Amino acid sequence: MSRMNIPFVDLAKQFVGLESELTEAFLEVGRSGVYIMGERLEEFESAAAKFCDTSFAVGVADGSNALFLVLKAMGVGPGDEVITATNSFIASAWVIAATGAKPVLVDVGSDLNLHEENIAPAITARTRAIIPVHLTGRPAPMDEINALAEKYNFFVLEDAAQAIGAKYKGRRVGSLGLAAGFSLHPLKNLGVYGDGGLITTNDSGLNVALRKLRNHGLKNRDECEVWGFNSRLDAMQAAFASIKLKRLDEWNYRCREIASLYRNGIKDFVQVPVDQDWEECVYHNFVIRTKYRDELMQFLKDYGVDTRIHYPIPIHLQEAAKGLGYSKGAFPNAERYASSMISLPIYPELTDVEIEYIICAIKKFFSEGK
Ligand SMILES: *Cc1c(COP(=O)(O)O)cnc(C)c1O
Repeated sequence: MSRMNIPFVDLAKQFVGLESELTEAFLEVGRSGVYIMGERLEEFESAAAKFCDTSFAVGVADGSNALFLVLKAMGVGPGDEVITATNSFIASAWVIAATGAKPVLVDVGSDLNLHEENIAPAITARTRAIIPVHLTGRPAPMDEINALAEKYNFFVLEDAAQAIGAKYKGRRVGSLGLAAGFSLHPLKNLGVYGDGGLITTNDSGLNVALRKLRNHGLKNRDECEVWGFNSRLDAMQAAFASIKLKRLDEWNYRCREIASLYRNGIKDFVQVPVDQDWEECVYHNFVIRTKYRDELMQFLKDYGVDTRIHYPIPIHLQEAAKGLGYSKGAFPNAERYASSMISLPIYPELTDVEIEYIICAIKKFFSEGK
């Protein structure tokens, strides 16, 4: 095997392919003189709503703000509890704490998503909402979650930051709860060239409330009804997002293709993610599990393959979460996975040759006596 160098992500590679379209958009927005709100944002919002099969989409500053603003619009605050997964990016939890409500963390199943048996014991009379995370781009079991929400009278906010385009029983994520928050961070499946975020919902009242909240609480140019925030998606980023949205299905398809190449290549050596027949995961990450985690990561590094861990520290064991009172051992799955997971490179620009190289390197590791 002659040595290759495969980075975990390569954003510049995609940029080069889009350069002329992006440049045109840059000039168009620049010459228009409209950089905040305006037509480019509205165009992206309607295209995104159409893509997600929802009535409304609202562009905001980033994915965290998308989640936070929905909680604020729904009046979540001190005294309330909101349930989310302990194996997630930290933002799934801090947005709850930022409202003054208490983040209630729960364990995940082997698909890295929330399930009824984990959620049910965490429900109390104070539960106002649940934030299921479609981790790695795999939809959480929304039928189970919506049934619990209906039974116990709380609302469902999808954390779809990693999952734009994913489908659950033929329906797009973003259309499966009361509302959903998406991130347009450069690393996500639909990434812009800075920070960006998006909220989708079918609730017209919520749509109106969110449009006010993201724009200082203003109802129109001069009248303010509620204390708000400044959390908007820039016109320039919206124009870039519109260009990329047209390619998203194709890119997600390629990620699913890469996932299936990986799966077939290494399933005899490590635990690989599997797709159920009712779901279309968009593989924001391809997470394998092995008890030889640290050695395999080092081995791959020596072979020029860059990998990551999502996430090495479950949220309940973070310093910031100390006040919530969880201790080590509280969530055995998440803790076990934290020491056995590896995320392999997965992005549309990866070539079949590169994927084959990574598969060969993993096979070589295991053929050398593991
Ligand atoms: C990226 C991410 C967020 C936050 O999105 P930002 O745009 O970075 O604020 C929230 N939840 C999950 C699961 C994420 O991966």
